[in-house]
Amino acid sequence: MFDYLIIGAGISGAAAAYELSTHGNVALVDAESRAGYHSTGRSAAMYTPNYGGELIRKICRLSHAFLDSPPADFCSQPILRHRGMMTVASPGQEQAMALKLAEGGSEYVALDVDQTVVMAPFLRRQNVLGAIYEAAVASIDVDALHQGFLGGMRKRGGTLLLEHGVTGLHRRTDGWVAILEDGQIQAKVVINAAGAWADEIGRMAGAVSIGLVPKRRTAILVDPPEGVDLASVPAIDFMGINSYIIPNAGQLMVSPGDESPVEPQDIQTDDMEVAVLVDWLENQTSIEVRHLNHEWAGLRSFVSDGAPVVGFDPVADDFFWLAGQGGYGIMMSSSQARATVSLITERQLPGDFINSGIGEWEISPARIGEHEAD
Ligand SMILES: Cc1cc2nc3c(=O)[nH]c(=O)nc-3n(C[C@H](O)[C@H](O)[C@H](O)COP(=O)(O)OP(=O)(O)OC[C@H]3O[C@@H](n4cnc5c(N)ncnc54)[C@H](O)[C@@H]3O)c2cc1C
Repeated sequence: MFDYLIIGAGISGAAAAYELSTHGNVALVDAESRAGYHSTGRSAAMYTPNYGGELIRKICRLSHAFLDSPPADFCSQPILRHRGMMTVASPGQEQAMALKLAEGGSEYVALDVDQTVVMAPFLRRQNVLGAIYEAAVASIDVDALHQGFLGGMRKRGGTLLLEHGVTGLHRRTDGWVAILEDGQIQAKVVINAAGAWADEIGRMAGAVSIGLVPKRRTAILVDPPEGVDLASVPAIDFMGINSYIIPNAGQLMVSPGDESPVEPQDIQTDDMEVAVLVDWLENQTSIEVRHLNHEWAGLRSFVSDGAPVVGFDPVADDFFWLAGQGGYGIMMSSSQARATVSLITERQLPGDFINSGIGEWEISPARIGEHEAD
């Protein structure tokens, strides 16, 4: 009998396994043959502390200390690398730019058109009014972070079982029995970190439904124009639209920021979405897309209020939700894992969450959960 069974070995489950393995025996299971195959391996890998609503921003910032300075034996390279980000405004967006600048206070710096095109020489000058620069934005080495969590969990005695999809959950007096494709596992507490599939796991347990909606996001990797050194190019957002461009290992990751609702699945790109994206990129910049080095899509899963779902289920005993990470799951992983441990072992949020004014209710499944009998 394990103390904790965590379903889903993406970044959320791996981080929770790392933290929980100092409190008991952990089994971390995933249906896939590779941890991180779904959303975790398909992200933009950014730490953006001013992205999302107020609650999301607070939770992300509570991860920063760990991401910036993980324990010495966690991994051999830095997790965060300075990148910076600029939000580019087009002519006509003077008012929107002033409003955003006022909102960001000292964290935002205004750039004029010359400074903006020096930072990103492939932007078409006639499309640029100026930009707002945020120095605190960093790239995240997602693989190092994920492997650090998994390796740390193993060192602490935890067990990772890949190709072990959960197909059923049964409640017994002393805990849970999880039915796997080839066997079963017993555990006192089940943690549902199944990403886009979290509501499916909830149904197996007779838990509430959190109304999770997976949304497809498309991305491509292209070469920069010849002669452009990407080392000092920041991530680039565009005011009023969702598209973005991010330097990524000598190439440019470009996304339309699409959010099409879909069923949980191994999501693939849509040809039309990619064609429209390439057209937008060639109009907005001097980049000529001769070849797509890579194209992919990933799922960002949201509940109705956009906040994550972290807490015990209100109807299924010893069933804990760690879901609804939306577009922030990598940067929230460390603080959410600490919240998971604290809620499971002490029935309260960690001190830094409480001091930041985060209430249990704001992230609890009970705030949005609906039970079939309701
Ligand atoms: C294009 C894109 C860009 C993004 N950019 C960023 C970013 O810059 N910064 C950021 O912080 N976040 C970003 N995100 C969001 C981030 O990727 C996700 O929030 C995060 O990866 C979610 O992690 P997870 O562990 O909850 O889910 P997943 O990584 O999807 O893991 C869930 C796991 O559960 C497993 N599973 C499901 N059902 C079962 C079952 N029945 N039995 C066993 N295992 C099961 C799956 O196989 C999967 O491995 C982005 C996402 C996308 C798609």
